[in-house]
Amino acid sequence: MAATHEVFNQPEPLVDVNLFATNRALQAALKFNAPALDTAPLHALGAVVGSGEMQTHARLANAHTPQLKTHSRFGERIDQVEFHPSYHALMAQAVGAGLHGAPWGEGAAHPHLSRAAGFMLFTELEPSILCPISMSYAVAPALRDNPAIHADWAPGLTSRAYDPTLKVWRDKAGLTMGMGMTEKQGGSDVRANTTRAEPAGSDAWGQRFSVTGHKWFFSAPMCDAFLILAQTASGLSCLFLPRVLPDGSMNQLFIQRLKDKLGNKANASSEVEFTGASAWLVGEEGRGVPQILAMGTMTRLDCALGTSGLMRQALGIALNHTAQRKAFGKRLIEQPLMKNVLADLALESEASTALALRLARSFDKASDPHEQVMTRLLTPVAKFWICKRGSHFAQEAMECLGGNGYVEEGGEGIMARIYREMPLNSIWEGAGNIMALDLLRALRKADAAAALAHELAPARGMHPALDRLAAQLPIRVEEMATEMEARRLAQDVALAVQAALLAQTAPGAVFGAFCDSRLDGQWGHSFGSLGAGVDFDAILERAMPH
Ligand SMILES: Cc1cc2nc3c(=O)[nH]c(=O)nc-3n(C[C@H](O)[C@H](O)[C@H](O)COP(=O)(O)OP(=O)(O)OC[C@H]3O[C@@H](n4cnc5c(N)ncnc54)[C@H](O)[C@@H]3O)c2cc1C
Repeated sequence: MAATHEVFNQPEPLVDVNLFATNRALQAALKFNAPALDTAPLHALGAVVGSGEMQTHARLANAHTPQLKTHSRFGERIDQVEFHPSYHALMAQAVGAGLHGAPWGEGAAHPHLSRAAGFMLFTELEPSILCPISMSYAVAPALRDNPAIHADWAPGLTSRAYDPTLKVWRDKAGLTMGMGMTEKQGGSDVRANTTRAEPAGSDAWGQRFSVTGHKWFFSAPMCDAFLILAQTASGLSCLFLPRVLPDGSMNQLFIQRLKDKLGNKANASSEVEFTGASAWLVGEEGRGVPQILAMGTMTRLDCALGTSGLMRQALGIALNHTAQRKAFGKRLIEQPLMKNVLADLALESEASTALALRLARSFDKASDPHEQVMTRLLTPVAKFWICKRGSHFAQEAMECLGGNGYVEEGGEGIMARIYREMPLNSIWEGAGNIMALDLLRALRKADAAAALAHELAPARGMHPALDRLAAQLPIRVEEMATEMEARRLAQDVALAVQAALLAQTAPGAVFGAFCDSRLDGQWGHSFGSLGAGVDFDAILERAMPH
């Protein structure tokens, strides 16, 4: 074919960039939360997850989605999920970086914070494979409530070797775990679970049960074992259910089908049935809900981290694109209204990063009473607010690329993947309302108002709007908001804590514009409506991904 035109004014994609070295907001948050943290491993991870090679794996793992194989070619039931080799390459990287369990195995300083930063960086590469990674991280401490299982499984769960084979635990170089709570008739309200667990003797792993029933959402069914909820005679209980039993035979877990999802394509989410599956009690019989909630705290942290990572990824792509693409005689990033949109997104991204990492710090100081309240308070707040902002953020970042943002293909097509992924962190592990209601429960702790005031104190006197909100919040907390007001309260606590953190970690241009817009009403209802007095160039320079 003869050439019809010259291709020009199409930006170079953002490839082979060190995602840690170019993320100033992440570096500032780490310095604030752990000044002495050794960031060398994060530098190394930043180079890997920003590489073109790993981006290709991410694209392929999403294009060639997992396939369920219920039967072998000879008709035997096998219940296996087949993944593209790129899925395994991504999993091997994430496990190799210790994102699934390093804090439980190694004696490094600030292990949860460091892992949180790695998790955020990895999200910029591919978020859906982080589902089994996050679940493995969350279940490991709960297993301590069955010391025999913990002793057998903890080494594999903290091993940095990824082993996707379906074999008995003792023959594997590394292990992963999932969680099964949600049933057809209820997900948020797990007390509605009907899956039954009947006593079936006891052995080296303690009380054994025979489980019959189903799970309506059961992600990453190729994990080696699951913590599930089922009804025993004493009520809802937490049980350990391995895929392969200690004698090497397959457990009675049958994968019915895989979910056809909006996004999160590389991750398999299934529906399963149990027909007398063997499972062992973890913790106290009838106390399954608190047991699962303890794990939920960690997966909720990961939702906030994951959305912050996706925001940073979308922002980086939008900045990279608009810095190269020209329209109406200027680069898009030089057009005043585009500057406003990009700077507004940059504020949101930095505030989310700051809040998510502040929350992660509290997990490293579990014996400190103030940090305990912060874990309890900020988990629902961060999960609610950051994840709620994600979809809106992704839509606006996508729009910065114009039509190229909406196509699925390669390079800039990552935007479509980000957009489809965004709502998920808001829904799973407790949807928005559930998080806001959980905040109300957290506030019933006697010291919540004082702890919140303490957290906001370092920013006192730095912005009048923040001072006003900081003065009101402890009173609203003490007076106890009603359920009807819970979302508004979660939003306001999030904004106040984000502002107080930016006062301590970000340049004045970022902090001032955040407070003016989010706290002082100098803002519209869409991104890109910051006031004229904002130092747009300073905010954009800080956010640039180069
Ligand atoms: C891709 C994907 C993978 C998943 N993987 C897993 C998994 O591996 N394991 C697992 O156990 N689950 C999994 N889930 C399930 C997920 O955690 C649930 O979908 C979620 O907890 C919501 O439960 P539900 O779907 O039953 O909705 P419902 O509980 O019916 O909630 C519907 C809506 O009602 C709201 N709501 C509920 N109660 C109240 C109330 N009292 N006041 C006000 N509003 C309320 C909720 O906020 C939500 O917006 C997965 C979900 C998805 C989408």
